[in-house]
Amino acid sequence: MSTDHVVVIGGGVMGSSLAYWLTRLEPTLAVTVLERDPSYESASSALSAASIRQQFSSPANIRISQASIAFLRNVAAELGREDERPDIMLREAGYLYLAGSEGSAALRQAHALQTTLGADVALLDRAELGRKFAWLNTCDLSLGSLGLSGEGWFDGYALLTAFVRKARSQGARYVKADVRGLEIEDLRVTALLLADGSRLACTHVVNAAGPWSRRIASMAGVDLPVFARRRSVYVISCPTDMQPFPLLIDPSGFWIRPDGAKFIAGFSPADDPDDAPLTPDYAAFESHLWPLLAHRIPAFEQARLERAWAGYFEMNTFDHNAILGPHSSLTNLLFMNGFSGHGMQQSPIVGRAVAELILHGRFTSLDLSDLLFRRIEENRPIHEANVIG
Ligand SMILES: Cc1cc2nc3c(=O)[nH]c(=O)nc-3n(C[C@H](O)[C@H](O)[C@H](O)COP(=O)(O)OP(=O)(O)OC[C@H]3O[C@@H](n4cnc5c(N)ncnc54)[C@H](O)[C@@H]3O)c2cc1C
Repeated sequence: MSTDHVVVIGGGVMGSSLAYWLTRLEPTLAVTVLERDPSYESASSALSAASIRQQFSSPANIRISQASIAFLRNVAAELGREDERPDIMLREAGYLYLAGSEGSAALRQAHALQTTLGADVALLDRAELGRKFAWLNTCDLSLGSLGLSGEGWFDGYALLTAFVRKARSQGARYVKADVRGLEIEDLRVTALLLADGSRLACTHVVNAAGPWSRRIASMAGVDLPVFARRRSVYVISCPTDMQPFPLLIDPSGFWIRPDGAKFIAGFSPADDPDDAPLTPDYAAFESHLWPLLAHRIPAFEQARLERAWAGYFEMNTFDHNAILGPHSSLTNLLFMNGFSGHGMQQSPIVGRAVAELILHGRFTSLDLSDLLFRRIEENRPIHEANVIG
């Protein structure tokens, strides 16, 4: 019987995946998830494009994706309960990374690593791209890299809900509470101070506060390089039927994928302030995105912007990768932050990894040592070329 009490700050997909894994791996453990807004109105997990790819350039990210897709394919069994079998509507329609002559070498290099690690990815030259995707303007393209399986998209909110419900059914306690401070004694976080004036004692605290994780870290005097950066998602309709249509990453930086009968698209803005209000940048659709879309996909001359939304990327400005595990001196304070636009797809495996650190003090399934917090203090960034910033 465990006497530990793990308190997770933030009940988004990360905090809820962790709560699920902790209560699955150690059913007697007390796990409390503190979430200040159970409607998840501003949470990234409710505003995500929820896509998954194998096409990363660092081994750690490729291995996480391989394990994640296996979990997502089996999600009804993993997260099902007696009365409910979750359906996240996983569609494995692939990612298509495109490159002009400049980007081809990087695409080939990433492809070599991906296939060595077993990812199901094919390179297509310009002629093959034109044959397979007749709707694509290939005039300035040299190469494409297409995921043949293990890549696509799903309903991210359904995954979040499934984690929450399963974690609860296994005994995790969800409490509506706003964390305002941490009590620290002898290099340990001993309690959390809540907005209603109460105090909650703990043996471990996990920062799963997404775009707000920097504030939580600062409560312990830790400088976490994670910033909230607004990303607009544009919902577009187009009368032309274009099949097959994977998630496309254009050399100019935009992405687009089907979403039911419509499409969703986005890009990373050049001017990218922290904490911008969560209202979508409609002007940028006309001035920036639409001309690029119409160039790459001529049928989009007829496209119509239907609506848009905005959410925060929890941007790790140190190296754009997950920051996991304990702080070096406050060792009962753990992080699961900084996913920089690829956290939804990593949540099933990151939750398991952080649970293993809490329960066993080490990774027992997939070794994610590359992503530990200590690399920040040691100034050892992990290079990942395929960040969709
Ligand atoms: C537009 C957009 C598109 C994206 N597309 C993709 C994609 O295609 N693929 C992919 O893998 N990822 C994508 N992502 C990223 C992914 O959605 C995030 O990495 C992931 O959802 C992060 O989950 P989280 O639980 O860490 O954060 P969140 O979902 O933001 O949850 C954090 C929670 O912490 C709570 N909280 C914060 N502070 C406190 C406090 N003081 N007290 C109590 N609670 C607190 C918040 O209320 C919030 O609910 C996208 C994100 C956005 C915004």
